[in-house]
Amino acid sequence: MIDPAGTATTSWGRVSRARSRVAEPAHLDDLARAVRAGDAPVLAHGMGRSYGDVCLNGGGHLLRTGRLDRIVAADWSTGVVRAEAGLTIGGLLSVCVPRGWFVPVTPGTKFVTLGGAVANDVHGKNHHGMGTFGCHVRALGLLRSDGETVEVGPEERPHLFAATVGGLGLTGVIAWVEIQLQPVRSSDFKAQTLRLQDLDGFFRAAEDSQDWPYTVAWVDCLAAGRRLGRGLFNRGRHAPDGPLLPHADRARLKVPRDAPSALLGPLTVRLFNAAYSRQPAGGEPARVPYGKFLYPLDGITDWNRLYGGRGFFQHQSVVPTAAAPRALQKLLELTSSEGQGSFLVVLKMFGPRPSPGILSFPREGATFALDLPNRGPDTLRLLHRMAEVVLAAGGRLYPAKDATMTAEQFRAGFPRWREVESYRDPALSSDFWRRVTGDPA
Ligand SMILES: Cc1cc2nc3c(=O)[nH]c(=O)nc-3n(C[C@H](O)[C@H](O)[C@H](O)COP(=O)(O)OP(=O)(O)OC[C@H]3O[C@@H](n4cnc5c(N)ncnc54)[C@H](O)[C@@H]3O)c2cc1C
Repeated sequence: MIDPAGTATTSWGRVSRARSRVAEPAHLDDLARAVRAGDAPVLAHGMGRSYGDVCLNGGGHLLRTGRLDRIVAADWSTGVVRAEAGLTIGGLLSVCVPRGWFVPVTPGTKFVTLGGAVANDVHGKNHHGMGTFGCHVRALGLLRSDGETVEVGPEERPHLFAATVGGLGLTGVIAWVEIQLQPVRSSDFKAQTLRLQDLDGFFRAAEDSQDWPYTVAWVDCLAAGRRLGRGLFNRGRHAPDGPLLPHADRARLKVPRDAPSALLGPLTVRLFNAAYSRQPAGGEPARVPYGKFLYPLDGITDWNRLYGGRGFFQHQSVVPTAAAPRALQKLLELTSSEGQGSFLVVLKMFGPRPSPGILSFPREGATFALDLPNRGPDTLRLLHRMAEVVLAAGGRLYPAKDATMTAEQFRAGFPRWREVESYRDPALSSDFWRRVTGDPA
């Protein structure tokens, strides 16, 4: 089962790479045995949809969970489902949507496992109402390297639960997850797009859209001056009636090989942004299938190859509400003056619902996400300057998206990190954890 030579694994941004001995257990018993591997640190790996090194473990063991994707128990009268941690959100949706249930919190791709969703305590476009994924977890099965399997939840071993949700896979390997699904009457969304003239427009639209369960804004990162913050604001809700159809299984497009990096030069980005912002906006909400509204990028297989062989970084941060207008302005000024941004600049307000995890990234405030093609030292400098703006505003960076934060930046953003360290299973570690804590394990 273990590949002795080690296998190279690359995370989603394709900048972070590591060689590990990889195992892909087919049964929970095999997973439990592999957690006790012994001679080198172990880490679970879901779909590798994290951008940087939280899902990598160079020189250690990587346990891929893709074959552990069975539903263990489901009560379709209450919407409580227990499933193995390697089941993807997409896999769960294809079973629960036809029965009138929906995953309560989902990130911008359905290709993430339940284990990965817990370990990064992921958020979605509905954070302002529903909080994070971990808010809907009722229980978890955790495999520890001492051979024990423990059940944890908000009431059962609550502190270990708080260390595990958003705990970056370090407190044990999650064997199964039990969640409460959300009832829906249709698989369609009613969605509306508003045009944003500037950054103030974003804050106004977010305020006016509190009763829309799902909101997100796209902003032209190259617009400057009075047009800083120009973009589109999308809002949506589950349609009150309609069909209950799961998403189509096949992506519409595929990126067959690495795109030449010139394709993503500033001129292309400028043209793309100008074309995108000419999209029709306003008017009556349109009916769209949930996949189109929630997962626009899933329609293109391997879209991360669009950034070429050198890969790309993502910056995602959150800053408290009071500091948000000034901090977002500074971040946008930095990206527009450097001209390094890409197509994907996403803004959203996180709501007040507390995250259950000690290291959960979301907190009330504004979140800013931006892809940056890897252009070497210039890009690293820009990422560092953006991190400084965020930390000065009392915010933090998202480990799931990060490949560059320093130990100081991590500790400033997550001052309670030692509590998770105290619950870390000594056999588990990751490239990220060694990078930000200085632990040589
Ligand atoms: C297009 C795209 C859009 C995204 N949008 C969002 C978004 O809107 N919101 C958001 O929050 N995130 C978003 N993400 C990030 C993504 O949701 C997270 O990185 C998620 O955790 C990836 O899940 P995964 O199964 O691929 O896990 P991996 O990336 O493989 O692993 C992530 C972490 O989970 C741990 N882990 C995985 N399985 C287990 C297990 N069984 N037991 C213990 N630990 C485990 C790993 O050790 C690692 O620390 C997006 C990513 C992409 C590519």
